[in-house]
Amino acid sequence: MGKQVCGVIIFVVFFTSFGGWRLTAYEQSWVSLQIEGGTKLEQDLAEEAVRRVEKFYLEMGLSLRDPKEVKLIFDDTVRIQDQQIEYALALFNKRTNTIHLLHYESAEYVANAPFGVSNSTELYCSIICHELAHFYNSVVVPQIEPIADEFVAATVQFSLLTGKLREQLLKRAPVPSITCPRDLTMNGYLLGGSNFLIACYLLAGKCPHLLCRVLQGQSIGIKDPFLVHRE
Ligand SMILES: [Zn+2]
Repeated sequence: MGKQVCGVIIFVVFFTSFGGWRLTAYEQSWVSLQIEGGTKLEQDLAEEAVRRVEKFYLEMGLSLRDPKEVKLIFDDTVRIQDQQIEYALALFNKRTNTIHLLHYESAEYVANAPFGVSNSTELYCSIICHELAHFYNSVVVPQIEPIADEFVAATVQFSLLTGKLREQLLKRAPVPSITCPRDLTMNGYLLGGSNFLIACYLLAGKCPHLLCRVLQGQSIGIKDPFLVHRE
C-alpha cells in the first residue's frame, strides 16, 4: 500500500513538472530582439511578429535551441553599410543577423506597400514575419537555396496573416500560376513580387510536404536556371 501511494506521488510530481516544463519551453522565446529606431507601434508589431513566427516554427517541430539575437532597424530608407537599397521595403542581412525595414509611416513605405495597401498594420506585421522567417531559416537550414528561402518566408508570412485580409488580397492580386517546385525561380520572384509570394503560399497549401522537406534541409526539385544547384 505504501509503495502504491509513493508511486502515485512520484507519478503526480513527474507529470506536473513535465507539464510545467512543456509550458515553459513553449512560452519562452529563443529570439532576443534588439530594436533600433522603432516607434511604439512598430515595436509592438515586431514583438507580435516574433510571437507568431516562433509559434509557427514550433508547430513545425523546429526551435532555435539556444537564444539567438536578431536586430531590427527601422528607417526611412532601407540601407546597408550606408548604401541605399532601392525598391526594398525590408530585407534580412544574414551576415549581421539584422532586419532592415521601412518605417510604417515613411513616404517610401506608403508609396510602395504590397498590393498598394499602405494603411494596414496587419500587412506591415506580416512583412516583419516574412523577414523573421528568413532569420529562422538561416539558423535551422543554413544551406537553404535563396528561392526556397523565399518560398518558406512567403508561406510563413501569408499563413500568419488574418484570414479576412488574406482573402481580400487573394481576390485583388493577379496570382501567377505556380504548380510545382520547378516554377519557383528568382526570375519569377523579381517579376511577380508580392503576387509571386502569395502563389508560393498557395503552393505550400496544395503540397504541405514541400515546406517540411525544405525545413528539413531536403531537396524539393527546384531548378532555377539562374542559380547553381548543389545536387
Ligand atoms: Zn524574402
